[in-house]
Amino acid sequence: MTPLSLAIVGYGKIARDQHHPAIDQHDGFTLSAIASRNGHVDGLPHFESLEALLESDEAIDAVSLCAPPSVRFEQAMAAMRAGKHVMLEKPPGATLSEIEILKAFAERQGVTLFASWHSREAPGVARARAWLADKTVTGMHIEWKEDVTKWHPGQSWIWQAGGLGVFDPGINALSIMTEILPMDVYLHASTLVFPANTQAPIAASLTFKDLGEHTLSAEFDWRQQGDELWNITIETDHGTLALSKGGSQLHIDGEQMLEQDEREYPGLYQRFFELIERGECDVDVRPLRHVADAFMLGERTTVEAFHDPAV
Ligand code: NAP
Repeated sequence: MTPLSLAIVGYGKIARDQHHPAIDQHDGFTLSAIASRNGHVDGLPHFESLEALLESDEAIDAVSLCAPPSVRFEQAMAAMRAGKHVMLEKPPGATLSEIEILKAFAERQGVTLFASWHSREAPGVARARAWLADKTVTGMHIEWKEDVTKWHPGQSWIWQAGGLGVFDPGINALSIMTEILPMDVYLHASTLVFPANTQAPIAASLTFKDLGEHTLSAEFDWRQQGDELWNITIETDHGTLALSKGGSQLHIDGEQMLEQDEREYPGLYQRFFELIERGECDVDVRPLRHVADAFMLGERTTVEAFHDPAV
């Protein structure tokens, strides 16, 4: 079988660290071009923009959109208009309504649109979902805390309106939460902490409820010193499940069930490949909807200005 010809659009941190190696490992894809203003890969055709790539003679079947979310809608529309399959980095867009339009357009065009959530590919997530499927959840706490200066040095877009701030990593926790909980939850309250000089929050506390009136909570914080904490603890009528290290470690009632190195992006490209083969789309907006609700209901507090040491 001839591999599908794929281009990366927005060759920055995540494209370099994760997408490129995962594509190289997948027999179903060949990385054929880069569309990025500054990012280059030796030996591959380079285009200043997606539009320039689409106007060229380069034969591309699919694109992987790895630029920040504010430009994703225009890029995804342009690619689908040209008949390309599209994989979206998370979050799939800057607003919910953008994504509804993209989804409907993908169906009209007969192309695959895959809104990827890389944290769902963490090794413990499928096991956690299976274990929780027949349990009653009685409580949940998420702590997703990391040092922004370590993980996002010099990234000014995350502090702008639409950049999501601490929800940029926090949405990863919400993508796992929505994947593994056996019931629907809704956002009940939120508190957002804004540095005096940014348009996006540096910390957030969320409270969710379910129909059983259980209270579930999440704490996101970018001011963490030392090791990052990416933990989800879920209490049930049959014991406590704990996912840690972003979902690569799973404990049930304190007993370690699994610890594996993260293999998230190879899993994403396998899923993208299967969706294209089956002629399907996968667009789940629930994590982004919770973030939108947190902004809608959020009580805001202001703290001292944030200055990125990398800038
Ligand atoms: P990044 O390095 O700051 O940006 C990616 C690339 O997008 C940039 O290098 C830039 O390439 C291009 N770009 C930036 N602003 C643009 C604009 N206004 N218009 C067009 N292109 C633009 O960001 P990243 O960390 O890779 O994150 C990109 C996406 O991946 C985000 O949605 C993020 O949530 C997600 N993600 C990031 C991580 C992570 O650890 N960093 C992990 C998982 C997912 P050129 O200058 O060459 O055009």
